[in-house]
Parts: sequence; structure tokens; C-alpha cells
Amino acid sequence: MESIAQNGCIYLDNAATTKMSKTAINAMLPYMDEIYGNPSSLHSAGQRAAEALADARQRVAACLGCGEREITFTSGGSEADNQAIISAARFGERKGKKHIISTAIEHHAVLHTLRKLEKEGFLITLLPVSEEGLVTAEQVAEAITPDTCLVSVMYANNEIGTIQPIAEIGAICRERGVLFHTDAVQAVGHVPVDVEALNVDMLSLSGHKFHGPKGVGALYARSKTPLSSLIEGGAQERGKRAGTENVPAVMGMAAALEEACEGLERNAKKITVLRDKLIDGLLQIPHCIVNGSLEKRLPGNVNLCFEGIEGESLLLLLDDKGVCASSGSACTSGSLDPSHVLLAIGRPHEIAHGSLRLTLSEETTEKEIDAAVTAVKETVEYLRSISPVWRDLVTGKQEFVIK
Ligand SMILES: *Cc1c(COP(=O)(O)O)cnc(C)c1O
Repeated sequence: MESIAQNGCIYLDNAATTKMSKTAINAMLPYMDEIYGNPSSLHSAGQRAAEALADARQRVAACLGCGEREITFTSGGSEADNQAIISAARFGERKGKKHIISTAIEHHAVLHTLRKLEKEGFLITLLPVSEEGLVTAEQVAEAITPDTCLVSVMYANNEIGTIQPIAEIGAICRERGVLFHTDAVQAVGHVPVDVEALNVDMLSLSGHKFHGPKGVGALYARSKTPLSSLIEGGAQERGKRAGTENVPAVMGMAAALEEACEGLERNAKKITVLRDKLIDGLLQIPHCIVNGSLEKRLPGNVNLCFEGIEGESLLLLLDDKGVCASSGSACTSGSLDPSHVLLAIGRPHEIAHGSLRLTLSEETTEKEIDAAVTAVKETVEYLRSISPVWRDLVTGKQEFVIK
């Protein structure tokens, strides 16, 4: 098979991370070279860096439709999620409110932070999702109590790509006076994000998910939202995040975000066509099923389960064929537990183990999609041909779960 594109492979793991754009790299270079001052320094070298930082903050804010004072730069999506949740929890605690609502399919940056708070005595409600992977605003409304200090619902899921009704949930939270955070790491740069229209108080994003650099992100916090600092030290980020700012990374992220937002509609259209072609191609394989809603879905997300297949084996053999894919999220790969997201949408353990996630970018070509379909078909066929479980299924000893 012809091997093309990034890393010498057909890169279909853009939900794990993306290739940096040339625009982002070029925006960073001067700040790794000549403009190296510390933005907190009062001399001219420092002030040049400070001006760049202010400019980046203003541009990121413009992309989200907020004020620059509402943006705090962080080390990435995980830190932004942690800070949003911990801040709301500390604020709630001071008022005697120790109930938090979230969903069963959040990223571990959210779920593990909530687990930590639960050990401290917070009551955590994780809303179940439908078989399509969706929560409703009604579910949130019913779960809110006078003790609720935070609702945190992700905008788009990193494994199955489902897009939640964030604006509706936000409207309910605002009406009930409860803080609302959304992990928008998979959404920003891929679907329109306007913090006003979404009715959110806090929103997390990460540079490397939209062709920016790794290790940098941002937390939007609507003015007057009580933010507390996770890292103690200097007064950077208006006292909300200590530590000398990563100016090159912030510059790269701002440039990547502007580029992603400018090209959003065009790219989304193009990627959606390829995504649907990929789904149609893979659905020709017998006994497989798509995970997540087909309508309320990120343009670049494909996720399926194949009966009688071990996701990890599939992934490794695909890599041999030059296709970079994922069996779920990068964070759960390496562990033997099936994905909490696939279990939450009701996939039985043995089916959840046979999952494959392919995530596209605007650089993905039709040729790559065709090659990927062929590679997956061949590999699934091969793995089934040597599987005792598959033999039991085809001889009728065991019943198929996926018809
Ligand atoms: C990648 C991701 C994160 C973590 O972001 P990092 O910048 O890698 O820390 C959080 N939430 C979601 C939904 C993600 O996809």
C-alpha cells in the first residue's frame, strides 16, 4: 500500500493531537529567538514580549467572542479543566454548596478531578448518556439542587465525537444561578464556538488539538467568575496562574486558532464529506456498528466497534500497514479497561474492546480514506480468521451481539 503524508503514515489520529501548521510554527519562531524577554521585566526586551502576549490574548478572545481579561493561558486542556472545576468547587464550598453535576463520558482531566473532590466530601452526579452519547438539558435541570455549585459538560466528546446541547444547558444553569463549565478542547477550531451564544461561564481549550503547539491552552472565565490559582508564585495572568508565560507557545496557539476559525466552515464541509465516506466504507464490514450520533457529531470523528476483534491488535496491525489510528482515547490506551465512554453508551465489554477511532483533519485526502478503508477491511478479516471467538460466532456456538 502506498504510504503518504505526515509521519510517513496515513495519520488518522487527529483527536489525540494534530500536526502544527506552518502558520503556527512561523508565529513562534521570533519568540524562541530574538524576542526572548520575560513579559514581567520592565525593560524594553521584556516589554516586547509583554506586548506580544497582550496581542495574542486579544486575538484568542476575538475568536471566542469574549474580552481579553476573560482569558487565562494555561499549560493545556487538562490544566484548564482542573482549574475551572477546582475554582468552582472552592467557591461553592465557601457557600456550603458541595454538589457537582457532570456526565459519564467526560475526559479524565474532568473525571479524575471530580473523583478527587468526591474524596473530599463533594457529592458528584455523573449524568448517564443516551445510546447516541447525548445528554439533555432536561437531565441537567432535574439534577440541579440548591447545593449545586457547578455543572460541567463537555462540548464534543474526544472518543465518539458527539456534540452536546451546550447553549441549552447553559441557559438552564444561568436561570438557576449555577456556574457552568464546558470542556471544549475537541470543539474549538472545529465547530463554531461563541461563549456568549453558548451561555457558558468557563470554557477550556488546548492548542495542540487545532494545529497549534502542545503544552499550551486557555481557560475562558466570564468576568466575575471566581477563579482560584492552581499554581502559586508570581502574579502572572492577573494572579490566576503563576509562572513565566510560555510566550512562543501562546503565539503559536493564537495563530493556529485564528487560522482554524477562518477556515472553519470550509474545512468542516470538506472533512464531513470524507468522514461520511469513511463511515460508509467501513460499514460494509459485517458485524460492525458506529458509536455516537451520526447527526450531532464532530466533522472529523469516526468511531466503530467490530465484533470478535481486539481493538489493540487491530490498531497495531493497522500501524504496520501505515495507518495511524486509535482504539479510543490516548489516555486509556495502554490499559486493559474498555473505554468508559463506550460502556456509557451501552456497549457490552467484549464489544467495547473491539473499537477503532479514526479522526480526520483538513489535510486528510480522499486517497488516504480509500486506503484506510481497504486496510481496515483486510485487517479485520485477518484477525477474525485467526480468532476462536469469531469461529464460535460463525458456527453458532455463540450469538452475535452486533447483527
Ligand atoms: C486532549 C483533551 C484534553 C486534554 O488537553 P491537553 O492539552 O492534552 O492537556 C481535555 N479534554 C478533551 C476533550 C481532550 O480531547
